[in-house]
Amino acid sequence: MDIYELSARDIALGVRDKKFSAVEAFDSCLSRLSACEGKIAALITRTAERGREQAKAIDALIAKKEDVGPLGGVPTVLKDNMCARGIRTTAGSRILGDWEPPYSATVWDLLQNAGATLLGKANMDEFAMGNTTGTSAFGPTANPCDITRVPGGSSGGSAAAVSAGYSPFALGSDTGGSIRQPASYCGIYGFKPTYGLVSRYGLIAYGSSLDQIGPFARDMEDLALVMSVLARHDPKDSTSVPGKNFDFTLKEGAVKGKKIALVKDFKDFTLDSPIADAMKRVSDILEKEGALITEVSLPTVARYAVACYYAIAASEAHTNLARYDGVRYGYRVSDEGMNLKESFEKVRSEGFGVEVKSRIIAGTCLTEPVRSEEYYVAATRVRTLIASEFTLAFKGADCILQPVTPSLPEKIGFVDDDATKGYESDLYTLPVNMAGLPGLSFFTGYAADSGLPVGLQLVGPRWSDATLLNIGFELQKILGRPKIANGGI
Ligand code: GLN
Repeated sequence: MDIYELSARDIALGVRDKKFSAVEAFDSCLSRLSACEGKIAALITRTAERGREQAKAIDALIAKKEDVGPLGGVPTVLKDNMCARGIRTTAGSRILGDWEPPYSATVWDLLQNAGATLLGKANMDEFAMGNTTGTSAFGPTANPCDITRVPGGSSGGSAAAVSAGYSPFALGSDTGGSIRQPASYCGIYGFKPTYGLVSRYGLIAYGSSLDQIGPFARDMEDLALVMSVLARHDPKDSTSVPGKNFDFTLKEGAVKGKKIALVKDFKDFTLDSPIADAMKRVSDILEKEGALITEVSLPTVARYAVACYYAIAASEAHTNLARYDGVRYGYRVSDEGMNLKESFEKVRSEGFGVEVKSRIIAGTCLTEPVRSEEYYVAATRVRTLIASEFTLAFKGADCILQPVTPSLPEKIGFVDDDATKGYESDLYTLPVNMAGLPGLSFFTGYAADSGLPVGLQLVGPRWSDATLLNIGFELQKILGRPKIANGGI
């Protein structure tokens, strides 16, 4: 077995016990990356030199018998909307040019302190808007399980990197499903924590009240291990919640006695048959393991969540993206003879892609003083209703079992000409962000006919993060861990 095939936990153990060095672990992952990257295009920027320097530093500490942290020598990948000091950060857009942030996101500081080494920055939909990576200014990433298909998005590069075996874990961000949906499409695990559990400092904002960073992995214990590193209060992020010191050590027997609910109002929605079959199979397994399967009702979620989410996300995005004007960051134009307004117009016209522009325009309209009461404010009220519907549902259930998406991954190019086709498919993921809840996307197996991976989702009340991972751990033991995808080679 090659080192790149190991879990994060086993790489960290191997490095600590000197079975192999951090440099060897890094090089094993790097050669896997080099073998697949021509077909997959998961990364925007490779950081091989910098990463190997980090690995050497880990080996030096080990030689001195010093502690290297729980992820000592474990290679990783960051979605390219997380700042890493001195490394080009693009958010999948032209508008940031070759911008190198002068500071690091808190999550990257935490990972570095825990000993992780960086392979590169992952491709993503421009400013995290999309669900295929097709809106990236750097071109699409391919799904390592079937390279003619999309890996999902917006964190599709991070998911593809883990699925193809570049690194045992990676970070993504999830505003309306961008961790959970690509995890499911690429046949791995992805976790969106409770809003406020992981710092957003240094994450390039899309919808600030919805964005949350979380991990991808091929092993539930790795997800938990990474969460134990990331779940920290951060005074630099005013929405980071203090005093949440969860124990992410996974234990046996999490399913027995739990009330796990199916959503009545989703019953009439169409699902691809492998997903419908997986729902039946997993709920039967949970019942057999001692869970009580119940039903909850989320009528407002089922009817209004998609429209409400896109109104709120666009409104927040147009505010967050107002800062890209060609003066303070990245992309510049030759603006001789232009006044300031003309120069801004030129930079923004050339620098942003179509999807981002359409959301900026939508957000501008929805929040205009004459309309905002009718649209933006109305959407925030519906959001409150959605959150209370979940609160009520969790009075009768410990968590909800539901799909991640209604269908399996499409062919590349299928939705790119009309992104609104993708909007409806976010129905099962985006309500979770609107209510600030944790959501675990887990691999259940491969579809019999297409061989494509099939994922499902567990959603729990706020701060039930560790519970979801424990249930996922038990399911992993029964359903089996995902295999590393062939990555087109
Ligand atoms: N597909 C959704 C959107 O485009 C969600 C994206 C995300 O979670 N970043 O807004």
